[in-house]
Amino acid sequence: MTWDFSTDPDFAADLAWTDRLVRERIEPLETLDLGHDQLLTVIAPLQEEVRARGLWAAHLTPELGGQGMGQVRLALLHEVLGRTLYAPLVFGNNAPDSGNAELIAVAATPEQRERWLEPLLAGTIRSGFSMTEPGAAGSDPTLLTTRAVRDGGEWVIDGHKWFTSNGSIADILIVMAVTDPDAGPHRRTSMFVVPRGTPGVDVVRDVPTMDHPDGTFGRYGNHAEIVYRGVRVPADHLIGEVGGGFALAQKRLGPGRIQHAMRWIGQANRAFDMLCERAVSRVAHGSVLAEKQSVQNWVADSYAELTQVRLLTLYAAWKMDQVGAAGARTEIAMVKYAGAKVLHDIIDRAIQVHGALGFSTDMPLEFMYRKARQARLVDGPDEVHKVTVARRVLRGYEPRAVPTEHVPTRRAAARRQFAEALDALAVSL
Ligand SMILES: Cc1cc2nc3c(=O)[nH]c(=O)nc-3n(C[C@H](O)[C@H](O)[C@H](O)COP(=O)(O)OP(=O)(O)OC[C@H]3O[C@@H](n4cnc5c(N)ncnc54)[C@H](O)[C@@H]3O)c2cc1C
Repeated sequence: MTWDFSTDPDFAADLAWTDRLVRERIEPLETLDLGHDQLLTVIAPLQEEVRARGLWAAHLTPELGGQGMGQVRLALLHEVLGRTLYAPLVFGNNAPDSGNAELIAVAATPEQRERWLEPLLAGTIRSGFSMTEPGAAGSDPTLLTTRAVRDGGEWVIDGHKWFTSNGSIADILIVMAVTDPDAGPHRRTSMFVVPRGTPGVDVVRDVPTMDHPDGTFGRYGNHAEIVYRGVRVPADHLIGEVGGGFALAQKRLGPGRIQHAMRWIGQANRAFDMLCERAVSRVAHGSVLAEKQSVQNWVADSYAELTQVRLLTLYAAWKMDQVGAAGARTEIAMVKYAGAKVLHDIIDRAIQVHGALGFSTDMPLEFMYRKARQARLVDGPDEVHKVTVARRVLRGYEPRAVPTEHVPTRRAAARRQFAEALDALAVSL
């Protein structure tokens, strides 16, 4: 058996095609301040080209209109798409729609699929995922307080959510609410589809954040604060089973984390290109910056870290393809925090090498930097993923009064083990 790091030629051609489209026809859109509807109009012909190439919504299985290409290929595709915020939208796999589509796909009835999944896949509606609450720790979804109470043929939802990404432009919101407060911590919640126009849905604001400090309402990529007041939805708006919310949330996030991490690598690669280009261009104190040892360290460290985290992520993707998300939990958790750190550090070095220019909005780096900070929080903070990894790794270890590697103990054992031979040699130890 060999370890094969090559890409199939047919898929390499798709990646090359995608790379050209992203660099030449999607990245330029970043420089225009387009509103959401304007953006959708401009990218519509590009989305057609992606469909014609067979790369639309590639994260989904073939019966749902995707490619069923497996996590390794998806990871490689997302690395290319990660260069710019708009590329996932052009390829029909932008968050949170992609995760929401997967969630509906795994748990919905045929009627629900027809009603919400098909338009979501076609890109004709937008969605939000409404789990996190300002009043409860989002890193522990067993603490959610939003309630859904059954009343005849309806569920009545009351609660306060925030950071519902795209909530202010969404047509449907997937709301996670407590349906049985007395059940075990992982069986208390359920998921509901709430059409945004439903009476009682109050999108209070788009929360001003590091990536969009002005909080302009209704922009793609914003994070909405939403109050649900006595919101009534028919019983058939429940996704999956009552009490199945936690399990569905877990399913939704597994593959998404690998795709996130590969998009971060795409971003980090772009920052790395900027770092290197500036290093060979700017002269100070008698030489180009590329000849200063600090800058060489940044280049060398960044290149090694990028390669490490890329291989780690591809390995996690490969493992997921072999044994599924549950079997690859440790690897999926690792790529989350390892990827977030590398993304941050490389953008930070790229800003540093650009000096004041890097701090200015004349370069995309300051926005990339602000955006990158969220990577340590979204889909669960780094610390929670580290807890997961540490716990799973530590399961393989037993407590010992004397360390296994304790040299005097090992020496005594070795003397006993080799006593005969040592006696024959007349070695005194
Ligand atoms: C840009 C962005 C987009 C988001 N999009 C969505 C979305 O679409 N839908 C949605 O529902 N939510 C979304 N979120 C929310 C996100 O999932 C939560 O921010 C995250 O789960 C953390 O929850 P919290 O903010 O309540 O922090 P808390 O749970 O209050 O945690 C605060 C801090 O406590 C520490 N901590 C927590 N647990 C542990 C632990 N076990 N060990 C050590 N330290 C710990 C961590 O440092 C953590 O950062 C988004 C967040 C951001 C920043």
